[in-house]
Amino acid sequence: MDRSGVERAVLLGWYWLRAENCALQNRFFADLVRRYPERLSAFATVQPAAGADQAIAELNRARVDGLCGIGELSPHAQGYAMNGVEFSAVLSCAVEFDWPVNLHVTDPRGPIYPGRTETPREDFVRLAQAWPNVTLVLAHWGGGEPLADDTKTGFERVFYDTAASPLLYDATIWRRFIDKVGANRVWFGSDFPLNNYPACEAKPEMERLLAEFEAAGFSSVEKEAILRTNAARGIGVNV
Ligand SMILES: [Zn+2]
Repeated sequence: MDRSGVERAVLLGWYWLRAENCALQNRFFADLVRRYPERLSAFATVQPAAGADQAIAELNRARVDGLCGIGELSPHAQGYAMNGVEFSAVLSCAVEFDWPVNLHVTDPRGPIYPGRTETPREDFVRLAQAWPNVTLVLAHWGGGEPLADDTKTGFERVFYDTAASPLLYDATIWRRFIDKVGANRVWFGSDFPLNNYPACEAKPEMERLLAEFEAAGFSSVEKEAILRTNAARGIGVNV
């Protein structure tokens, strides 16, 4: 982070299939956030398929531990219905805590890769419509396309992150996507420590992704929104 000029990182959990692994990850993140409160924030991960009570207890514990959001989750990969009672309990927690929820989205036209799970776009449209008061962050540019081009149609709390962008899209996506939804709807995400440039970097690095972002030619106001204020507002950090 120091080398790349990153002030604060928001750690996202993996969508584990076993609730025990979610708990382990959450404890690990809580420990890191306690040690580096000025540099790190973290989201909690849960496995709703293991039961609503367990997921709610885990989220309450994570909140006490200083975590600040939910995700990355993948109902499709973890095996629960997006309109089921277990996930609804998790979303109710998100409303109560005012926490954003980050969800994995696969591009239906995107590349085949290990662990790929299909995530039908209509599921996210229905979810956003059913839960207009939840801040949803759809990962990986929401599968490459915004849910709605018009920002005035009830999707105002739907955001998109840019995690793993170079593995999925060429650099034109920055301008193309943000011209559609506006700079206030996109959170800069890296998927670090995933190596975004395996063809040119032996180890994961942040600099190349930041350079790609810089080269997209955003205004200073747009850059500030994408790199800092959109996410900071979403997780309740003062900037
Ligand atoms: Zn993902």
